Amino acid sequence: MFSQSMYQLGAKRSCIRELFEYGLRQAKVVGPENVFDFSIGNPSIPSPPAVGEAFTSLLIQEDPLTLHGYTPASGCEEARQAVAEDLTCRSGMTIRPQNLFFTCGAAPALISVIRALGVEEAEVVAFAPYFPEYRPFVESCGVRFVAVPADRETFLLPIGELEAYLTPHTQALIVNSPNNPSGVIYPRENLQALSELLERKSREYGHPIYIISDEPYRELVYDGAEVPFLPAIYPNTVICYSWSKSLSLPGERIGYVCVPDCAADSEELFSAVAGAARTTGHVCAPSLQQWVVGLCTAQRPDLEAYDRNRKDLYEGLTEMGYRCVRPQGAFYLFVQAPGGSAQAFSDRAKEKNLLVVPGDDFGCPDYFRLSTCVAHETIVGSLPIFRELIAEF
Ligand code: PLP
Repeated sequence: MFSQSMYQLGAKRSCIRELFEYGLRQAKVVGPENVFDFSIGNPSIPSPPAVGEAFTSLLIQEDPLTLHGYTPASGCEEARQAVAEDLTCRSGMTIRPQNLFFTCGAAPALISVIRALGVEEAEVVAFAPYFPEYRPFVESCGVRFVAVPADRETFLLPIGELEAYLTPHTQALIVNSPNNPSGVIYPRENLQALSELLERKSREYGHPIYIISDEPYRELVYDGAEVPFLPAIYPNTVICYSWSKSLSLPGERIGYVCVPDCAADSEELFSAVAGAARTTGHVCAPSLQQWVVGLCTAQRPDLEAYDRNRKDLYEGLTEMGYRCVRPQGAFYLFVQAPGGSAQAFSDRAKEKNLLVVPGDDFGCPDYFRLSTCVAHETIVGSLPIFRELIAEF
């Protein structure tokens, strides 16, 4: 006997993983240069050199018992101090080490916050298109997942329509900017309008509605776009961050929850996050990685290759007639499927060794996602196939 819901989650193949693994197999058959794989969001630029140097020097110089030992559940004091100082500098708000709880990346950070807010009958809102894992994260906490379509033209937050989806059970909204999969960055005015609505609804319902700001792409921005610091606009914001994308460390599993002092009941909420992390065994994030990020707070990714891919693919596709919002951040393009069915488009593309992810699991079955963290040759080689496909559909 085992849990049917867990079985279903484990047995159902992730479409992204399935395409990615198909691509690896197909590369052995037709040669890697003939497979154009846009499926997975694995960073394609190396970590800044200082990151490797931090790993090496720590391994050589630090006392191994300290380096590889348990840290406090929320993380080691020195690393939290370093990250808090960096956040304070960047945000203009005071962030203290006590506001930070280190996690194994953004995924457990999100789960801990959702679980912490998971009172009876709780609901959490996400905007479609959304990161597909939000749904299982929310539902596994016994919380109702409420998908709200983003504005269809711009993929911005749909302030006018949102109110109809809020109820007295709404505990939180997940806001992901820069966005996976649309690449959109919500501008300050859009966030201010969201804040005004949530302030009003919180007063009406008599309890705070929190924003869970999922920020693994915060540093992946182009054309000088601004990613506003959400707690400065809406105090009841909790941040979930990860170094997976910004320092190209997805396999090292390191991130944090930040519950700023300005959030309602911040100390109690922080304790609830710690309690939630405890129940899922997500305490004491990998200690070596904690030390590394503590030493590397000043490091930023070199975005030249991502930016070139973004521009060339966006311009190549839109010139052919594909419709897509120009991404300002992250490393994805979310493209309207010619013919209306992204699954049909993806299936046909696969026959031509072009791997694109249908948007069904992102809440938009008429769009497909392209990860632009690929070799530039993949972009160049894929364009003639995209041209054939738009003519077919
Ligand atoms: N949130 C979003 C929007 C993501 O795209 C990802 C990973 O791709 C995550 C969270 C999970 O990040 P991590 O790998 O750090 O757990």
